Amino acid sequence: MRNNSIRSLLKIPGYKIKEIINKGEGEIHIRIEPHKRNKGICSGCGKSHRSIHSIREMTAEDVRLGEFRVFLHIPKRRSECPEDGRIHTEQIEWIELGARVTKTFAKSVNRLTAITTNQEAGWYLGLNDEKVCRIDKAILARLARRYLHPTPLSINISIDEVAWKKHHRYLTNVIDTDEKVVTWNEKGRKAEVLDKYYEFLGAENCKRIESASMDGARTYISLLR
Ligand SMILES: [Zn+2]
Repeated sequence: MRNNSIRSLLKIPGYKIKEIINKGEGEIHIRIEPHKRNKGICSGCGKSHRSIHSIREMTAEDVRLGEFRVFLHIPKRRSECPEDGRIHTEQIEWIELGARVTKTFAKSVNRLTAITTNQEAGWYLGLNDEKVCRIDKAILARLARRYLHPTPLSINISIDEVAWKKHHRYLTNVIDTDEKVVTWNEKGRKAEVLDKYYEFLGAENCKRIESASMDGARTYISLLR
């Protein structure tokens, strides 16, 4: 089969097949590379940057081709982000973040675990339990991000700072007190974190908040106006 025919079977927008390496029994390893016009998206700011700091190869499993398990070898570009001055690796839209598999593969694992145990799904796919769990977790995290974005408007909110005493670390939860659900959270505390929440919400929605309380006391409301 020519590379182009295989490429049409893979869902790898923005990438082309560079080389097919057969490694071991029952596995196909495919080296892919980005098209020239694909400039990559910075995981720090979501924009494209021209200069590349370095390249790091990652391997991600994709759905099977016939009896063969498919592993994609993907060069990930790293750039210094002008927004925060740090080096960020590009994010690839069709890779399931934190699971080293494609989203198509993750979806098929998720469908299997919906009807059978992780152990059996893992046996069928040749994955260990931990990997199956990690894939399911990654999908859940992505779904949660999608459901919570854009940040839903709440009329009455309460702000809750959760502390990990040992490290003096904080997480700020914003709770919709009418719906009794956490609608937003972020690491950190106090005004600078809340400013982020108001930013996510947008100026128009901020005006619609009627009350904001913290530890029972109405506070931070001045930030809204
Ligand atoms: Zn950036």
